[in-house]
Amino acid sequence: MDYSKHFLLNTETVKQYVKDKTNIFDGTDVSDLKSKEISDGNINYVYSVANSQKSVVVKQADNKIRTSGRELDRHRNVLEYKTLSIEGKLTNGMVPKMYNYDETMSAIIMEDVSAYKNLRKELHAEKIFPKLAEQISSFMVDALLPTTDLIFDRHQKKNVVKEFINVDLCDITEDLVLTEPYYNYKNRNTFDDALDNFVKQNLYENDELKANVAELRNNFMNNAQALLHGDLHSGSIFINQNGIKIIDPEFAFYGPIGYDIGNVLGNLVFPLVVEYSKKENKNSEFMTWLENTIEDIFDLTIKKLYLKYDELVEFPLYKERKFENSYISSIIADSLGYAGTEIIRRTVGDSKVLEITSITNVEQRNIVSKALIKIGTDLILNRKLYSAGNQLISDIAEISDSII
Ligand code: ADP
Ligand code: MG
Repeated sequence: MDYSKHFLLNTETVKQYVKDKTNIFDGTDVSDLKSKEISDGNINYVYSVANSQKSVVVKQADNKIRTSGRELDRHRNVLEYKTLSIEGKLTNGMVPKMYNYDETMSAIIMEDVSAYKNLRKELHAEKIFPKLAEQISSFMVDALLPTTDLIFDRHQKKNVVKEFINVDLCDITEDLVLTEPYYNYKNRNTFDDALDNFVKQNLYENDELKANVAELRNNFMNNAQALLHGDLHSGSIFINQNGIKIIDPEFAFYGPIGYDIGNVLGNLVFPLVVEYSKKENKNSEFMTWLENTIEDIFDLTIKKLYLKYDELVEFPLYKERKFENSYISSIIADSLGYAGTEIIRRTVGDSKVLEITSITNVEQRNIVSKALIKIGTDLILNRKLYSAGNQLISDIAEISDSII
């Protein structure tokens, strides 16, 4: 086939594509390969291609969003490939292996990691993963800190910053996460009418909160600190009892480290608040594990940031303990701030989460939404005050209690 111009693959052509681009299926006829569209996302096309022994995944981007048809630069796909390659090296394989990249076709051929499952869905089924805090805190610290110019060569870093300018995808975050929940200028927010006044008072007319979100937005847009995943919510984390695999960094760019950490923390608050809100069938074992996991992710991430910093930073001025403390403290404050903006945007914004949309009882859904808005607000406003995971959990529980 001719791949000199971009065209969209389908379940048939994708088989030949994998044959042409890799030697993985040498010895197997195209007609003996099986393929299917496996995407449950809404932006790109994802196929699996397999023979009886081995399966690979092909992720292809178009110039448009698959579901809405809105234009979106295909360049995101090369940034995803490059980020996965960098993250794979830095984290010793916590992402799918890369088999081929083709910039013209905007297609990545990679390891099929379907032995691991979508963390958001697993949490929805109340599954417990004892090592999650240990694994995800390692992933974040190992993938993020070494890409900063505290460690990485400052000249090279500037070139990488340039390479990772991600105009279209950052634009989505700047609007959907860091603007519209507080200033609904595109009229895309959605929530039950009964929440109108609550949202108005707590978000649209909350000047103190808006000033703090402005700080976080400005920081997101101007603090080229580290190469971020950019969309590290629980649907980008695949997990089983052996480990985790991180997928889908198409929002990657050089931004504040706390944005990734905040996404992880914030997305674990949804299942927790839903559990708090249950009147019957409460699963206290799951609830306690989730509380401990959020607490441990917070504490372990700080601990590992210090360890990695002490291990890898060599520049004398940066080795001053006072600077190290202030650098890590500001990452932690950012993390809580962005956890807050993530919690709020998923509650009132255009892009909802399963944990909220699946609540069929409107009254319960509204109570959960109010608790989430209050928790998000607390995390944003008090982001510089938290220094330990147990404070965080006790405040989340207390705020939930006051509303539920
Ligand atoms: P999008 O960017 O369109 O959201 P994702 O990268 O999130 O696409 O992929 C969508 C879905 O496809 C994932 O939720 C997962 O089920 C499946 N998928 C993607 N990459 C892989 C992979 N390497 N192995 C197995 N399944 C994958
Ligand atoms: Mg995606």
